[in-house]
Amino acid sequence: MSFEFQLTDNVMYVKGVGPKRAALLGKLNIFTKYDLLKHYPRAYENHSSLTKIEDIIAGETVLLVGRIFDIKAREARGLTIINAILEDDTDCIRLTWFNQKYLLTKLKNGMRLLIIGKAKYDSRGGLSVNPQSFTILEPNEEPELGITPIYPSTTALSQQVLRTAIKNLLASMPPLKEILPQEILDAQNLIPLDEAARTIHFPKDFMALDAARRRLAFEELFLIQCGLMWIKKQTQDERLGISHKKNSALVKATLEKLPFELTGDQKKVFRAVSKDMESKLPMRRLIQGDVGSGKTAVAMLALVKTVENGLQGAFMAPTEILAVQHYEKFSKLLNGLGIRVGLLSAKVTRSKKSREEIYHQIAAQELDIVIGTHALIQEGVQFARLGLVVTDEQHRFGVAQRSTLEKKSEVVPDMLVMTATPIPRTMTLTVYGDLDVSLIKELPPGRKPIKTEAKNIRGRKKVYEFVRAEILAGRQAYVVCPLIEHSESEQLADIESAEEIFEMLSAGIFKGIPCALLHGKMKPRDKDEIMEKFRDGETKLLVSTTVIEVGVDVPNASVMVIEHAERFGLAQLHQLRGRVGRGAAKSYCILISDSKADIAKERLEILESTSDGFKLAEEDLKLRGPGQFFGEAQHGLPDLKIADVFRDLDILIQARDAAEKFITDDNNLAYFANLRQNLALAYGDKFSQIIAN
Ligand code: ADP
Ligand code: MG
Repeated sequence: MSFEFQLTDNVMYVKGVGPKRAALLGKLNIFTKYDLLKHYPRAYENHSSLTKIEDIIAGETVLLVGRIFDIKAREARGLTIINAILEDDTDCIRLTWFNQKYLLTKLKNGMRLLIIGKAKYDSRGGLSVNPQSFTILEPNEEPELGITPIYPSTTALSQQVLRTAIKNLLASMPPLKEILPQEILDAQNLIPLDEAARTIHFPKDFMALDAARRRLAFEELFLIQCGLMWIKKQTQDERLGISHKKNSALVKATLEKLPFELTGDQKKVFRAVSKDMESKLPMRRLIQGDVGSGKTAVAMLALVKTVENGLQGAFMAPTEILAVQHYEKFSKLLNGLGIRVGLLSAKVTRSKKSREEIYHQIAAQELDIVIGTHALIQEGVQFARLGLVVTDEQHRFGVAQRSTLEKKSEVVPDMLVMTATPIPRTMTLTVYGDLDVSLIKELPPGRKPIKTEAKNIRGRKKVYEFVRAEILAGRQAYVVCPLIEHSESEQLADIESAEEIFEMLSAGIFKGIPCALLHGKMKPRDKDEIMEKFRDGETKLLVSTTVIEVGVDVPNASVMVIEHAERFGLAQLHQLRGRVGRGAAKSYCILISDSKADIAKERLEILESTSDGFKLAEEDLKLRGPGQFFGEAQHGLPDLKIADVFRDLDILIQARDAAEKFITDDNNLAYFANLRQNLALAYGDKFSQIIAN
């Protein structure tokens, strides 16, 4: 039979499954035998050794075999309590079940039982066991001991059914072929795949379980790392890269024109970037730094460097408003140096004439630096000589867009990615595994910390009185809300929308003060106009959704109020508050929430106590998982089935090192083709698409 076995077979052909149970398994995303094999236990119960009744210690969970007698039921405080005595050849002990009256029809005096339960002192001061579960044994039956897997399941599908199905699958499955190279198994001290795949379900002891888990977690992380390294290796083909010359007059002139001296971290990062650009290998570098840490300044220098080499630079911003802001800053500083800066935004490309004109200027190299939004990666944009691509707030673009822009040029341009969302180490090793990482931790001098306070909704009136006083003293303020308009959905009905809050504030406490409403559903033109008026100080209070999240720079805005703060992620709140504290005035961020949940309160308290973006991001990632953190579609990484990037950080690092060595050795290419099939089997198109040929 075994030659017919295919892991891709429908799960209904596993003995003990059939079409009806297969439908239930489908609800757990189990469709094939392979899916069932990879349906790993979420926990294990230790049923591996029997305790003799005379050895029972209070507080322990014990596994007992004995005969019961003296079964009695009584009512107390509205509960049915069943008591019985269990006896083995060493001693006897009282058993106590609460509120399980139906057991009276099952339990019979003289029965042999296998029981798992916790030993406790009962109200009478005697030792007693509360059984969690029991099995009735035949007079001569040997109890089945071992570690019992507990599977993620649904109520319709019992643990017993799952266990039996997996047991049958394993019994019918021929030995799995090893997929990891033998040297790696040896070097990492890993057990073979077949052994691990079986042991993870039915381990004989906890040591064996640990070895199986480590092997499978390593494999999972190793495959992903190989994929990422593969991407990196492809782009690092020396023939395709550009080697820039050492920094010269134009870069130096720009440095002199900057109205400030670079911070130590900025210098360090620009040195690393320069070195990458001068190398023949295409640069793939990620700059991480908190909002306002000066990443854009470094990016500008890198762009000037590429221009100095007779090439063009592209700077991709996540929003129109930001693109315009960068454009204005860049032009002001660079035009005097003879560098031609262009803006390619939706506004510019709306009319056919202006669109064709700028496309032409880009293609004819009449522009040196082009700043834009995703319009930059649209069809039709063809650079004459693209030397460097900078993407700001990269995680909003996604891996696919990153590579589209790369393909816009015959040689592979250098690439710099900037992000203000602090990315925890676990993520830089996975999602961004194909990039080198630089950090800017030091803030430019003179920045004042932002005072952050979490307030209950009852304190809202006071909060807005404070905001009003700040505005009357000449400052400006933001109010951020999670929703644009009122939602009728049950979950969201209690949330006041930006529209409602705007009405309430502008007609109430802020009457007579210029207020504006800004949200993502507005026409780009209207948004720009509103933003301009706020930047120019005409508008004093801006009520908005998170459209203001990224990058806008209004130094006079010193207060931010965030409504329903519990609805935002910590990293996002931290980003938002980075909009204030950019000027001379003392700045405030006030988080309003009416959530009674402790976890919500705790989260907001973390924000009060730290301004360390990395710490906040780690917390966020722990609380919400990578999918939430990056947005499911964007993070581009498949869900991990067994590895946990927090708990298994050491395995992750080992897997990464091993993958790096493995992939850089050309002798392994054939082997890698084989691994790619495994990636396809495990993750379908999601990941294998990225690393296809
Ligand atoms: P980021 O891109 O990291 O958000 P920016 O480069 O936009 O940060 O810098 C934020 C603000 O700080 C800008 O107004 C910029 O002019 C200013 N800035 C940047 N670097 C320095 C520095 N070394 N010293 C003083 N101000 C700086
Ligand atoms: Mg920025």
